[in-house]
Amino acid sequence: MKKKLLKNAYIIISADFPVQKADILISENEILQVFPNGINEKSFGEAEVWDMSGKLITPGFINAHSHVAMTLFRGIADDMNFKEWLFDNMLPREELLDDESVYYASMLALMEMAGKGITFSADMYFFTNSICKAFSDVGMRGCISRGLSFDDQKGWDRRLDETMDTYNRYNGYKNLLEVGFGPHAPYTVPMERLAEVASLAKKLGASVQMHIYESAWERESYTFSDLDKTGIFDTKLIAAHCVQADMQDIKTLAAKNVTVVHNPCSNLKLGNGTAPVIAMLDENVNVTVGTDGAASNNSLDILGEMKIMALSQKSKYSPSQVKINDVLRMAWENGGYAFGKKMGRIEPGYYADLTVFDISKPSFYPTDLQRLKSHIVYSAGSDSVFATMVNGEWIYYNGTYPLIKESDIYEKFQKSFIRIENTFNGNSIISGN
Ligand SMILES: [Zn+2]
Repeated sequence: MKKKLLKNAYIIISADFPVQKADILISENEILQVFPNGINEKSFGEAEVWDMSGKLITPGFINAHSHVAMTLFRGIADDMNFKEWLFDNMLPREELLDDESVYYASMLALMEMAGKGITFSADMYFFTNSICKAFSDVGMRGCISRGLSFDDQKGWDRRLDETMDTYNRYNGYKNLLEVGFGPHAPYTVPMERLAEVASLAKKLGASVQMHIYESAWERESYTFSDLDKTGIFDTKLIAAHCVQADMQDIKTLAAKNVTVVHNPCSNLKLGNGTAPVIAMLDENVNVTVGTDGAASNNSLDILGEMKIMALSQKSKYSPSQVKINDVLRMAWENGGYAFGKKMGRIEPGYYADLTVFDISKPSFYPTDLQRLKSHIVYSAGSDSVFATMVNGEWIYYNGTYPLIKESDIYEKFQKSFIRIENTFNGNSIISGN
């Protein structure tokens, strides 16, 4: 692959840096050099030059928690509480999934994410070989885990076998994918099984994604002390939600270096509340941000999450306790730290994973350099995303997806959706017309 030189852009190196003018040189999948005063492209005879005048380049946005294939269930059960949503609507429909439906639903989700400036997504679901194929086809970086729950020994063994099959096929694939473990939650996986997952994950050095304290009723079914005994806190644990964590739990998360993924839209929509993010940051917990699945959000838009997070935390604490740099850090460097990857900064040696904003859009005015970071969090919205690069390749550019054929995806997604809904409803009420 030729080197790429992105010229004449405004850039933000990371959350604590001001906006500055610079050129960025990319080689293969990495950032090779950043030139704050620009560089004469003649020095790079072999580099492709991309004029980025009028654009703002930032580190790619990191979605630390999702279930990509749940795009199939978007708009179903919008007005239900968490238990009705999960047990009466999601779980029965998930029984009807297959490799094909999961692949096209994942493709659709990842296209949406790419178009909204996301360059990495962490995922937990089923049919993970199909999900990995979708990540690779769209060009999205990710950490994928097979969701694990315990019903009986046979089912548990099958799910662990599927985890290992995906691990063996896709861990490290194209320098794009990582495969980890995904015990769904402590209320669906007994403690002795969590201990088994913890020991496997430690042996492989793999990450673990798990829902923890998403809803108030979970506090009656397990404690942090139960979890600690399983060894799960001693893995590379990414804990989704932690809405119900108290101060004692927050101190444990900090002491054990557990990453928390805050999913503000999903938590608000399912009536689970607002996580104590400011208290977590004060205790130096590594907090990141995620969309969760499209069935509980319903969009896959980290910029939207950042704004809702900032607003809901201002409401829970006080407006002065929520800083723009903290919000940006959660979507950039904290995500890189959580997954142990060179992501979330524009620096030599980091992945060439970038988001490009068009700052000629109305919501980016006034074009005062001091205010561009504020515009990203509070004003811009994902419609200002001009391009998204992962591993040095454009996966979204000016309204198009250069690596895939879009029309096929919509058609096959819609076919899967109709099959699942008709089967779930036991008749043919959905024609798709
Ligand atoms: Zn989730």
